Amino acid sequence: MSAQQRPVAVVSGGSRGIGRAVVTQLAADGYDVAFCYHSRPDAAEEVAAEARDRGARVLALRADVADGAAVREFVTAAEDGLGAIELVVTSAGITRDKGLLMMGEDDWHGVIDTNLTGVFNLCRAAVFPMLKRRRGNIVNISSVAGVLGNAGQSNYAASKAGIIGFTRSLAKEIGPYGLRANTVAPGFIETDMTDALTEAQRTELTARIPLRRWGTPQEVADLVSFLASPRASYITAGVFQIDGAIGL
Ligand code: NAP
Repeated sequence: MSAQQRPVAVVSGGSRGIGRAVVTQLAADGYDVAFCYHSRPDAAEEVAAEARDRGARVLALRADVADGAAVREFVTAAEDGLGAIELVVTSAGITRDKGLLMMGEDDWHGVIDTNLTGVFNLCRAAVFPMLKRRRGNIVNISSVAGVLGNAGQSNYAASKAGIIGFTRSLAKEIGPYGLRANTVAPGFIETDMTDALTEAQRTELTARIPLRRWGTPQEVADLVSFLASPRASYITAGVFQIDGAIGL
């Protein structure tokens, strides 16, 4: 496949964890990839190099997904630099875990703005050109916390439940134009996001997972890769838990 023919994907939060695995998998799948990150250019450069080694043209740009103008600039830079966007994957996300009574407005708005408004911002910016071309596909990363709820994560669970409602609604809006949108809801995945847990907490959580282990970012990236592909051409508005059955 020549460089010109490669489809273009944009990924939010592509510099670490699940987003990183998605970027490198999409590069291996034949995409050129533009991804954004927030604060760690060193990590972003590593991923960009890894994806370029897989034959992709790559743009790694700093853009806070909570900032609509910055996201619009990111999408414009992706289209100008790489070409028409065919795939959007939103992986940027944060936690600020606290019981409700300890949760300040900053904790609430910080998580909702990044996790939920961030998804709105990127989809809003990327979908219009996709609709015009009648070609495009969206995969938003939620969490089993958004399906089940989780004590100490009411802000995070609300943001992740919001992504499910948002994505299902979007799928219904864009379906008539031939576009698809799906949600992936991971359980416990080995990334920096879960580093803060103590060894005791990890052991207790692992015991609750019927598969008795945590998932890897690559396992989530493989599901995203499938949903992005033509093999999933009749799948839209779905919510796919990838969680070793902890979410049952
Ligand atoms: P992670 O390792 O902490 O990585 C988060 C990524 O998001 C980083 O690339 C980070 O960039 C980026 N990011 C954070 N805030 C951003 C912002 N405001 N604007 C742009 N980029 C931003 O997290 P992860 O574990 O891979 O999680 C990825 C997604 O999966 C999240 O939506 C998370 O909620 C979801 N998820 C994770 C798990 C899990 O167990 N790990 C389970 C369920 C769902 P910088 O490093 O530059 O800040």
